Parts: sequence; structure tokens; C-alpha cells
Amino acid sequence: MSVVVLVEVEEGRASLVSRETLAFARSLGAGNLHALVVGSAPEAVLADCREAGVVVVHEAADPALERYAAAAWAAAVEAAGRAARADLVVAPGTGRGNEVLAHVAARRGLRMAANVVAVESLSPLVVQRQVVGGAALERATVPSRVRLLSMAGHAVEPTPADAPGEARVQPLAVAVDPKDLRAQVVRVERREQGDSSGLTAAKVVVGAGRGAGGPDGFAAVDALAERLGGAVGVSRVVTSLGWRPHHEQVGQTGSRIAPDLYLACGISGSIQHWAGCASSRTIIAVNTDADAPMVTKADYAVIGDMHEVLPAVLEELG
Ligand SMILES: Cc1cc2nc3c(=O)[nH]c(=O)nc-3n(C[C@H](O)[C@H](O)[C@H](O)COP(=O)(O)OP(=O)(O)OC[C@H]3O[C@@H](n4cnc5c(N)ncnc54)[C@H](O)[C@@H]3O)c2cc1C
Repeated sequence: MSVVVLVEVEEGRASLVSRETLAFARSLGAGNLHALVVGSAPEAVLADCREAGVVVVHEAADPALERYAAAAWAAAVEAAGRAARADLVVAPGTGRGNEVLAHVAARRGLRMAANVVAVESLSPLVVQRQVVGGAALERATVPSRVRLLSMAGHAVEPTPADAPGEARVQPLAVAVDPKDLRAQVVRVERREQGDSSGLTAAKVVVGAGRGAGGPDGFAAVDALAERLGGAVGVSRVVTSLGWRPHHEQVGQTGSRIAPDLYLACGISGSIQHWAGCASSRTIIAVNTDADAPMVTKADYAVIGDMHEVLPAVLEELG
């Protein structure tokens, strides 16, 4: 089976979700794994592709594609799909990955499945996918000639292939129609507040919500996150009240996290918060209310005041 994966480049290498997507595509039995990189593929990206078992890297280096334009990138995906004779095209389930694949589906009259976490069958295509911002899972059958799907972040580990791939670079000619460039990104500005990359990549997240009581209620939360080599994550109430910056927010309108351990303190566990933390491997809730949704969904819970529990944990850790 021939599969093309759209690889997004972030800070000179394949983004984490792209590497996860490559591992996922390989796990589907893609004997012929191709990658599409829009722009010149940096050496680190080629190394990521080799490690993931990619056979061919289609490099769409046309200057017209330099600025992100969903329709033009969709043309590149179509060209790569033709070059690879793809049975399946997979994109990372990011804003761009989903947008580009939706354009491909619309242009080709195909169907796509977005934010997939598992494939039950390839023929017919039956998937499990995240819906309602990740708060629920849907099982969907997608009858389509060419299968298009995007992969939800953190659904699989970005594991290397048993044997590295050749990752042979093949220039890809894309016929860019000027009308495909009508909507394009003209400028990118970095968020001044900081960024959430540390939070989304953290193996341990110490979370706090309204139960922190105010901006001064985070001393033990910060100290514990530092002690455990992790990051701080907060609920929307906390960012709305200005207690902490937005880049620390976890949830539907914040970051999706998938740490090994999420310690959720003074957080009720609303559906919108859960959407961002449900992929955590182990959740420990610290809450005064034994009936709080976070407590009932967590793997473990401590019923108590976070202002007493966290200092006690810190003392225990020494
Ligand atoms: C469109 C939309 C998008 C949203 N997106 C997000 C999102 O991305 N992320 C998000 O988090 N929310 C989001 N929300 C808000 C969400 O609905 C909740 O309002 C919010 O998550 C609640 O935050 P909280 O748990 O900190 O506060 P609360 O719901 O007030 O819960 C506080 C919890 O702390 C406990 N508590 C109080 N004192 C202590 C103490 N001393 N020690 C221990 N426990 C204590 C209480 O028992 C309670 O369970 C969104 C809402 C909407 C409508």
C-alpha cells in the first residue's frame, strides 16, 4: 500500500505531530511510505523521514508555495498523491493539515476523516475520530476511492521504523493556479506572551484551576512543576481572570496535552477542560469535592485542599 504523509516543518525539523503521523501511517502497513514537504526539506527533516521509514520525500519547492495557502498546498498534495500512486493520504490533524486536506477532498470530490485516533479497517475505511473538540469519539465509515485522513495529535508515539528508509528527495512539480493563492498567509507574528510548546511536550503537567484561589495561589504549583521537571497547565477560569497567561491554558480553547502524569488541582473537570487533557496517561485529581467530574474521571484522587496537599507532596519529595 502506498501512503503519502504531509510533513509540516517546525523550527527546521518535522513537527512532533508530523512524526506521529508518519509512525501511524507506517503502522497501517504502508510498505511504500512517502512524505510531502512543501518548500526545501532541511537536512533534519530528511533525517526524521529516514528514521520514520520514508522511501521518497516529495519536495515541492516552487517559490509560489513559500507562503502558506491552503488551496495551493492542496494542489501539492494532489501532485504528490499522483506521483506516489497513493491509496491513502494522511496529514497531521493541525489547523493547516485539516485545512489542506479539506481542500483536497473538495477539489477531488472525495471524503475525508479528520482527527482520527485509530483505523479499524482500511477497506472499507472505518475510523475512530475525535469530535466535539476531542471530548468524544465517533466511529465512522468513510466510503471513498482515495482515502484521506488527518491524525489527531498525541494519539500515537512518534516511534522510529525497524529499518530506516532511504528518504530519497524527488522534486515535485506543482501547477500552481494563481486563484489558489488568493488566500495566503502574508505575515507571521510570534505571540508575545510566551508559547505553549513546553506544555504540550511535557511529560508531567501540574494543573491548577479556580481552586488556586488567586494569582498568589500558584507558588506550590510552580514549585512542584519545577521539582518534577514538568510544566504548569491551567483552566480557562484562571486565564480569564488574568491569574496566568493564556499559553498555559489546557482545553478545547487552549492546548491539548498528553503527559505521562497530569496532576489536576482545584479543577472541576468541565467537558471543555477534559477535551485538552483526556489523552494524559495517568491523571491524579486534587479537589475538595469528591463528586467533581475531574475526581470521578481521574485514575487517582486526593480529596483535600490543594493548599495543604501540594506543600505536603513537596515536603515528601524533599
Ligand atoms: C466555548 C467554551 C470553551 C471553553 N474552553 C475551555 C478550555 O479550553 N479550558 C478550560 O479549562 N475551560 C474551558 N471552558 C470553561 C469551562 O466550561 C469551565 O468553566 C472551566 O474549565 C472551569 O474552570 P475550573 O475547573 O478552574 O473552575 P470551577 O469549575 O469553578 O472549579 C473549581 C474546582 O476547584 C475545586 N476547589 C476549590 N477550592 C479548592 C481547593 N482549595 N483545593 C482543591 N480543590 C478546590 C472545586 O471543588 C471545583 O471542583 C470553556 C467554556 C466554553 C463555553
